[in-house]
Amino acid sequence: MAAVLALSGGIGGAKLALGLARVLGPGELTVVANTGDDFEHLGLSISPDLDTLMYTLAGLDNPATGWGRRDETWTFMSALGQLGGETWFRLGDGDLAVHVERTRRLRAGETLTAITEDFRKRLGIGARLMPMSDDPVRTRVNTAEGWLDFQEYFVHRQCAPIVTGFEFAGAAAARAQPDILRILRQPDLRAVVICPSNPFISVEPILAVPGLRAAIAACAAPVVAVSPIIGGRAVKGPTAKMMVELGLTCTAATVAARYADLLDGYVVDAEDARSLDGRDVVVTPAAILMTSLADRERLARAVLDAADALRRHP
Ligand code: GDP
Repeated sequence: MAAVLALSGGIGGAKLALGLARVLGPGELTVVANTGDDFEHLGLSISPDLDTLMYTLAGLDNPATGWGRRDETWTFMSALGQLGGETWFRLGDGDLAVHVERTRRLRAGETLTAITEDFRKRLGIGARLMPMSDDPVRTRVNTAEGWLDFQEYFVHRQCAPIVTGFEFAGAAAARAQPDILRILRQPDLRAVVICPSNPFISVEPILAVPGLRAAIAACAAPVVAVSPIIGGRAVKGPTAKMMVELGLTCTAATVAARYADLLDGYVVDAEDARSLDGRDVVVTPAAILMTSLADRERLARAVLDAADALRRHP
């Protein structure tokens, strides 16, 4: 039962993480979540990518939004608004329970890893889910208007300010979650999968945790990424907008270049495969747009097949 390690942000990454969880046996998959989006709001510790992954893997996700819980109610938010409280970050009533309980347990001295592990078991999730680090890392966005905290940029300002760069505050002092390093040292590790997440704000914060990038580069398994860009466009979210603002071309190749030191395989849409000619990576064309559950499972199998082929013929 060789392990598979997947790196993921929120919505795009969680789609593939769900596919992997469904095609792999129980206990085979470990999903590492970006915690650069985490923040403290209304006195609560909020971990948006961990929660999107948790709800998706538990079948509790809201298919309409991609974030939050399905069948959510909003009594808390409307009561808060009536009192003049901050309502720009939407917290549904059921979702609120996660933040309240997580915050209480963090304050009592538990680690984010231990809390996440307990939540996922209680929600019946077979895959392991863990934060990249138990130490705080906070993504900040440099914009034409100056530095903004991530959620200020992403949710409050809806990604409108023009981006000029990023920093991952706290990353230099953060310790990688030790189980991730342990998994990366396994000689029979089957694959490391970089999910189709935003490279700048979902994957690079994970890779910024000291030791993680080097451990991925040195691991025995093939490292395979799935492009979040299809035919020069992002499926959702600000990935394409950021690329343009940073002076990069919006292509699958641009994403591959950010992981060039890590990648053995790259799964892309057929129309993008040619643009990767000449790169030092094995390209696998596949249907990488995940609309249905069957799409997620099919892509997960394609990624694992690509990794297995690389293991046999490195
Ligand atoms: P966030 O943390 O919620 O922003 O989510 P991620 O960073 O994990 O995912 C955002 C990325 O997912 C965007 O760049 C999208 O283009 C990509 N994405 C969303 N859905 C799909 C899909 O079905 N297929 C692929 N290949 N990429 C997707």
